[in-house]
Amino acid sequence: MREFSFDAVVVGGGAAGMAAALALDSRGRTVALVDREAGLGGILLQCIHNGFGLIEFDEELSGPEFAERIEEGVRKSRIEAFCAATVIDLEAAGEEKTLVCVSSSLGILRLKCRVVVLAMGCRERNRGNIRIPGTRPAGVFTAGLAQRLVNIEGYLPGRDIVIIGSGDIGLIMARRMSWVGCEVHAVVEILPYPSGLTRNIVQCLHDFDIPLYLSHLTTRIYGRDRVEGVEVTPLENGALVPAKAFEIPCDTVLLSVGLVPENELSKKAGIDINPATNGPAVDSTMMTNLGGVFACGNVLHVHDLVDFVVEESRRAGGYAADWLDGQRPKAEARVKIGANVRYVSPGRVDLARENKIYLRSLVVKNDATLEVRLDKALVRSIRKNHVQPSEMISLELKPGELGAGSSRAEPVVEISIR
Ligand SMILES: Cc1cc2nc3c(=O)[nH]c(=O)nc-3n(C[C@H](O)[C@H](O)[C@H](O)COP(=O)(O)OP(=O)(O)OC[C@H]3O[C@@H](n4cnc5c(N)ncnc54)[C@H](O)[C@@H]3O)c2cc1C
Repeated sequence: MREFSFDAVVVGGGAAGMAAALALDSRGRTVALVDREAGLGGILLQCIHNGFGLIEFDEELSGPEFAERIEEGVRKSRIEAFCAATVIDLEAAGEEKTLVCVSSSLGILRLKCRVVVLAMGCRERNRGNIRIPGTRPAGVFTAGLAQRLVNIEGYLPGRDIVIIGSGDIGLIMARRMSWVGCEVHAVVEILPYPSGLTRNIVQCLHDFDIPLYLSHLTTRIYGRDRVEGVEVTPLENGALVPAKAFEIPCDTVLLSVGLVPENELSKKAGIDINPATNGPAVDSTMMTNLGGVFACGNVLHVHDLVDFVVEESRRAGGYAADWLDGQRPKAEARVKIGANVRYVSPGRVDLARENKIYLRSLVVKNDATLEVRLDKALVRSIRKNHVQPSEMISLELKPGELGAGSSRAEPVVEISIR
């Protein structure tokens, strides 16, 4: 077994991990960056479509191009990257942390450090998670797996496709499968509105005349050895209408039914999970309940744009460096989820400095107002032309805005959408 020591170890070498590691490196800290894959870049490497980097680089890049830009910084830095190495354990004994990794080339490694940044990304929900009845033939894939097969491995998962769920990965794959000559018969969505970004609905479905069935449930997958079709039943006023059920013949079903932060390692280490995000519960510096362990990117909450992932992770790396410098968060308020809000991240804000908060709406609404209250008093009101659950909202709270302060032992900042 080999042992190495660093100031910080970052788990996961996707956009989040690389951005956090670079922030720590820029503060003069020694950093190890560990990823289970053969190279850095994470999910970006299979996203060969463009639409990345409009905020970060003011340019429209593909996923691999975006990853390459950040990785170039990593290559020029003193960050030590351990690829093909999976972190299987995080042990925290006071200030000292040890990460146990299994590496295909180096065997078992123990990485010692004072600060850990968790950036393990997320995983896709599958057929078992949504319990679609029917037989169990071959030909059912998650959309991200199909994307990997087509874009990286060079395999075609099938020819006649039905996509269940209108999440962004499914929408991107509807276009991708059309481009490679497959027939995409439908996207079936249980909700009355799409789960993906509006730009993806337009560019991936409308431009290819692919029908989107909203308020429809896939009630059966059928086929013996291989998928032969799906049964789709409309919902009216929230109830299934079996009399109007219809079948769509296909040989392949792609599931795009949500992403879940990848937190097995976090849970095993005793990190508290926020039930609203399924990611670690964090304070205003993105630190978990384990002192010196931070989280950012999709492992913290599922983001729609990589630009937000990088922004958030750079801050997490900076806070981790502050922690190493001995700084600790001071005047924190708890963030309460108000009306029509699905979640807010992080779950605490620092009343004395600028805070960046990300949140998602629970509703689709035009002419909405985002309200921020400190101990019930309205401190900020922001007009939004349109809000919907699939589009993350970012909010900056300036110091002073909350700084008039609160006399309560634990101040509460409530965020709601009206
Ligand atoms: C199909 C798809 C399309 C998208 N399209 C767009 C788009 O058009 N525009 C846009 O801006 N954004 C898009 N996004 C979103 C954006 O790409 C992601 O949110 C972002 O890249 C996630 O970065 P991350 O570092 O948090 O996670 P990931 O990129 O998933 O990185 C996590 C890394 O952690 C590693 N890891 C996990 N567990 C361990 C462990 N125990 N030990 C070691 N390593 C581990 C994984 O191997 C992985 O490399 C898309 C995402 C997907 C999936």
